[in-house]
Amino acid sequence: MAPMKVEIITAERVVYSEDVDVVVAPGIEGELGILPHHAPLMTTLQSGEIRVRKGGEEISMAVSGGFLEVMANKVTILADSAERAEEIDEARAQEAMRRAEERLRTHASDVDLERAVAALRRSQARLKVARRRRTRPSPPQV
Ligand code: ATP
Repeated sequence: MAPMKVEIITAERVVYSEDVDVVVAPGIEGELGILPHHAPLMTTLQSGEIRVRKGGEEISMAVSGGFLEVMANKVTILADSAERAEEIDEARAQEAMRRAEERLRTHASDVDLERAVAALRRSQARLKVARRRRTRPSPPQV
């Protein structure tokens, strides 16, 4: 199938911009799979994993919310933050998760629960993407 364009951008930078075959993104109501020539669509995203397939290769990225638009065979993702798997600092995400869990556990009066839950989800998404990359088997040698 002819490819479609996908552009993943944040306020700071273009994270990813390529012609791809499939995009899978964490829509607010569940995982969204988008193939070329998808009908126009606009939705919000939750924290999670974005996967794109191009040729035989799959790339995984973490996203922490934002908007997704499909229009004229182009997927545009305006992300609150997004990182490619290889950009993720796993130790930092682990520490962010520990802090968020601690805040949720102590449940102190000055803790903003919504903010702690959002931070927990961001860190979990980053860890999932970073670990998936680490455990993925190497491509066959030719
Ligand atoms: P932290 O508490 O570690 O800053 P956070 O979830 O509060 O995590 P964000 O506010 O979502 O961080 O992101 C701030 C910036 O730092 C963004 O540009 C984001 O891409 C980047 N970032 C956050 N966590 C990581 C990470 N573990 N690895 C690489 N970049 C990260």
